[in-house]
Amino acid sequence: MLLRNSLNKNNMNTMMMALLIVVNLSQLTNEQNNRTSNLKMSIMETKENKRATEFEFKSLPYSYDALEPFIDKMTMEIHYSRHHKAYFDNFIKAISGTPIEQMSIREIFAGVSKFPAAVRNNGGGYFNHELYWDNMAPNGIGMSEKFKTLLITHFGSLEKLKEDFTNAGMTRFGSGWAWLSVDDNGNLFISSTPNQDNPLMDVAEKRGTPLLAMDVWEHAYYLKYQNKRVDYINAFWNIINWKVVEERYEKAVIKK
Ligand code: MN
Repeated sequence: MLLRNSLNKNNMNTMMMALLIVVNLSQLTNEQNNRTSNLKMSIMETKENKRATEFEFKSLPYSYDALEPFIDKMTMEIHYSRHHKAYFDNFIKAISGTPIEQMSIREIFAGVSKFPAAVRNNGGGYFNHELYWDNMAPNGIGMSEKFKTLLITHFGSLEKLKEDFTNAGMTRFGSGWAWLSVDDNGNLFISSTPNQDNPLMDVAEKRGTPLLAMDVWEHAYYLKYQNKRVDYINAFWNIINWKVVEERYEKAVIKK
């Protein structure tokens, strides 16, 4: 009898333990679900996943003269209020009343070769400039040690990264962009695209998610630097918001 009681007691204890484990496990699963949905939320907030109907003409994150002396006030004012505004207006016009309106920018760019040139040129123009404004800041913002290590691992040194990026900007004939991007395998790469193309587009030579965008159209630098594109690129290096670049990298890599 005594033995039976103690056995039963042991059984009860085991059952209680099992129950506790189940409860704990379900709590864990809930936590994980919350984390996953938070993650989904943050991914949905990235620009490239926004639906076309949600696009807006955002204000600049700083004043027109905030990037002086590297980029002058008049260049910023004309670039933002006229060039960028025109890309935005023409993009909205090009997609209004079409099924493209219901697509995300990532989907639009992934099939951009099938759409009218106005979608490619103005959609690219709108999106690329948003990245560009956001990845600049007065006097620049530094990166974390972790991200620095990652860049050095990929490119050998930060100097080599700058050299390759500068080279991409310098060798782009005519108008276009230089990019630092991450591909679907998590590899960082530097490239350039003509006109208003970008690495998200199916027409790009190298495809990936853009992390750092540099406009090398003459309208981005001609008033201050005239034909000296290299001086503009060197100046640009002083105003990079590496915090934003790093955040884009984190989001792009998590999304996989
Ligand atoms: Mn531009």
